[in-house]
Amino acid sequence: MRTRLVAQDTHDMNNVAIENELSERISAAALEIEDKVIAWRRDIHEHPELSYQETRTAALAAEHLEKLGYEVRTGVGITGVVGVLKGGKPGGVVALRADMDALPVEEKVDLPFASRATAEYLGQTVPVMHACGHDCHVAILMGVAEILAGMKDEIPGTVTLIFQPNEEGSNDGRPSGAQAMIADGCMENPAPSAVFGLHVTSGIRSGVIALRPGGLMASADRLKIDVEGRQTHGSQPWRGIDPVVTSAQIILALQTIVSRQLDPTLTPAVISVSTIHGGVRNNILPDSVAMEGTIRTHDEGVRAEIWKRIDKTATAIADAAGAKATVTVFEGVPVTYNDPPLTDWGTNSLKNGLDPQRVTEVRPVMGAEDFSYLAQVVPGMFFFLGVVPPDVDPLQAPANHSPLFRVHEPALKYGVRALSYLAIDYLKRK
Ligand SMILES: [Zn+2]
Ligand SMILES: [Zn+2]
Repeated sequence: MRTRLVAQDTHDMNNVAIENELSERISAAALEIEDKVIAWRRDIHEHPELSYQETRTAALAAEHLEKLGYEVRTGVGITGVVGVLKGGKPGGVVALRADMDALPVEEKVDLPFASRATAEYLGQTVPVMHACGHDCHVAILMGVAEILAGMKDEIPGTVTLIFQPNEEGSNDGRPSGAQAMIADGCMENPAPSAVFGLHVTSGIRSGVIALRPGGLMASADRLKIDVEGRQTHGSQPWRGIDPVVTSAQIILALQTIVSRQLDPTLTPAVISVSTIHGGVRNNILPDSVAMEGTIRTHDEGVRAEIWKRIDKTATAIADAAGAKATVTVFEGVPVTYNDPPLTDWGTNSLKNGLDPQRVTEVRPVMGAEDFSYLAQVVPGMFFFLGVVPPDVDPLQAPANHSPLFRVHEPALKYGVRALSYLAIDYLKRK
């Protein structure tokens, strides 16, 4: 890293030059530690840990932060780590977040550091893989930690680094990692006024950053519908109440909520009924049918409206048939909402810090992210970092969560640059 310092008391007319200088310095620093970041990523990739089991990963992050002089809190939200760096100049507080957990997926990528790990998941031993790229997020934030520590004296304010467990969902009734860390005070003492985070993605070319203001990723709720009828012989449906036909009507009617009842210009929305179970034999109409599905939206108002309409549609159709439908919505993560003023500013900042050509706008994504909880506490901005190798078509690249998910590692330094630049630039604008 170069040691030339940025002048602190410059007038506005010099801002552009200063920004470019900051960008150059961070770029050089990121290049200098690129091999380390990749080595961290490979080490973490080879030793993936499931949600709320990220003890090795958390220890790596905590040890690194301690060495760099951060104030470190461990066990925040079960296995989470918070590192606080107080800059040499007074100023505000900004938070950066990386998630740490891996998935119950068997790696099928032929790499020397491919995972052979197994772990306990819901009482079963399963293979584990960093199939969502959270290994990259941890390595990137460790790189950012090092760059910021090297510039500590000139940072006007405080940076909080959040290494978060359980983004994917432990599916055992415990809250998401972001919720658990917020409950344990990761957004207090010091309290940031903005939070930034990124996600590597197989849908975008290596090193390209993509984001949008407003809803970036969807809310995700689990839907359960139980339809109770009355069992009868399959040859004599009039002697009972058929929950199978009633369920079929409900499934079809639910599809009209998005297509016929919502303003499509307001937000994308999806209602999927993904499982249906009922009956044991061809000539018995069963007592009941159980269905499950998922609800996705990009707008909290529309989300609440959909819940109401599903309930109304299912119960009214069941009622017409003499059956009874019970609708349960398990509230999942909210919309990952990129605060528009912060994101307008942040998009410009990224263009200054990296290269305007490297930063692009993306369409809303129907996947979900528990970063959304952090962005409910303070304005947040989340963005994607493409990791598809230059010779692969992003449309053909195996998706995140695939056993073939692969990361083009030269992209990582752009993640390091983006978060480092955003943090310092944000504190400087305060
Ligand atoms: Zn994931
Ligand atoms: Zn993920």
